[in-house]
Amino acid sequence: MRLENKVAFVTGAGMGIGRAIALKLAQEGAKVVATDIAEETCRGVVGEIESAGGTGLALQCDVSNGAQIDNAIQKTVAEFGRLDILVNNAGITSFKPILELSEEEWDRTMNINLKGQFLCAQAAAKQMVKNEWGRIINIASISYGGCGIAFPQVAHYTASKGGVVALTQALAVELSSQGITCNVICPGIIDTEMTKSIREGDQLQQLLGRIPKGRTGRPEDIAHLVVYLASEQSDYMTGASLVVDGGWLTT
Ligand code: NAP
Repeated sequence: MRLENKVAFVTGAGMGIGRAIALKLAQEGAKVVATDIAEETCRGVVGEIESAGGTGLALQCDVSNGAQIDNAIQKTVAEFGRLDILVNNAGITSFKPILELSEEEWDRTMNINLKGQFLCAQAAAKQMVKNEWGRIINIASISYGGCGIAFPQVAHYTASKGGVVALTQALAVELSSQGITCNVICPGIIDTEMTKSIREGDQLQQLLGRIPKGRTGRPEDIAHLVVYLASEQSDYMTGASLVVDGGWLTT
């Protein structure tokens, strides 16, 4: 129970990596606010948390909408009295050749993947400074443009995740004097709805050949690291980018 008495706010928690993170934080004793663009999916996750004896709250929150974020943070503080941990997980992707990528798709991706993380971090940090303690954990990707690997047809996604890594470092520098750390996790390929078409496609075997662990990742592989970054034990870590990719980048 490394997170007893802590209050955590997770975005995109209705399924995939966000769901695993919400469940794991609750297992470690945190009260978890599971938010997602669709409230019914996070209600299901909170049902799972409560069935296991934990405490949760399901809230609808579109991370590209500042008013919805402020509202959800206010409801969190009204319910639990504080906010200690933010996991900026919500994100989208799509595959589009650069010559066909529309301005609308670029903006939508940036608004959810990058602006959403800024807005949530700002709103959460305003609460965290009151207790001079906080953990902000951002989710980027190995597809962020800074680690020697790039993928076709995801320029918008890659640029947004590069922005997330940069934002993480900027937040770490500004907020550490107020007891708030900020780190970013860069997952490889994880078994979720987002990667279903890749994992079920013809290229899976070729892809697995490049991953020393010989398998794709599980959402729990990311959630375990989130628990560590959310805990007291990670106190001296801030501004770090942590790759969880089964060894892919070493090949
Ligand atoms: P996922 O299975 O597609 O789940 C994402 C969740 O975010 C969904 O519940 C989705 O709701 C929600 N969401 C979408 N737009 C939102 C918005 N505007 N506001 C709030 N929630 C929203 O994706 P995932 O694979 O778990 O990905 C989670 C994070 O990990 C993302 O940031 C992703 O970029 C990153 N990541 C994933 C992988 C991977 O291999 N899966 C690799 C690297 C990085 P709807 O489904 O209803 O839209």
